[in-house]
Amino acid sequence: MNRLHSFVFNAFSEQTYLLDHGNGEATVFDPGMSSTQEREAFEGTCERLGVVVVQCLLTHAHLDHVMGANWIKHRYGCGPRLHPTDEQTWVQAPISAQLYGISFDELPDRGEDLGEHGSTIECGDIELEIRCAPGHSIGHVVFVCHKSKFVVGGDVLFSGSIGRTDLPGGDPDVLAKNIEEQLYSLSDDYTIHPGHGGATSIGKEKSSNPFVNGAGTGMLQR
Ligand SMILES: [Zn+2]
Ligand SMILES: [Zn+2]
Repeated sequence: MNRLHSFVFNAFSEQTYLLDHGNGEATVFDPGMSSTQEREAFEGTCERLGVVVVQCLLTHAHLDHVMGANWIKHRYGCGPRLHPTDEQTWVQAPISAQLYGISFDELPDRGEDLGEHGSTIECGDIELEIRCAPGHSIGHVVFVCHKSKFVVGGDVLFSGSIGRTDLPGGDPDVLAKNIEEQLYSLSDDYTIHPGHGGATSIGKEKSSNPFVNGAGTGMLQR
């Protein structure tokens, strides 16, 4: 049964995910819904699935991943949970919105900080492992479900690409190292659900990603 549902939201084509816990509750990841229409689409899916959002998790706090955080907080009562090492990205989000000239709801109060690297979060009968994987942002994490072999990966590794490293807190060497150590250490059949673009697998990216591959010969590894 497919428990993870995806949406493409906002001007950045950011992917928000909804994980159905299987018990009437759900977790939203990186809420980027920015318009009334996008928010209604999200609500419609929750209604169709018969779930209520009880938790909001962030891979990182770039503008495009938090545009719906205020709305989620007021609609469902849950503040976004961020790894504390990404604080500076969080603080920067409304400033970036101003620079881009994009309307942006003020950031809500956050929920409890995400736990340390290697700690787990329960989503009904699904357990997610938190892995710190900075390089795109200073405090980026990925959420790994070992039971169903999937990763909610944010902007670390994309299908045929990688997260940009030119924004504040970005570092190409750190990003390459984390893709190798935190993602390529998983078996080939894990599916990655990234923050932009379609899903991919660890095996596919290890063999053909032009920037960071399993052989260590990618553009970012030389
Ligand atoms: Zn990002
Ligand atoms: Zn993004």
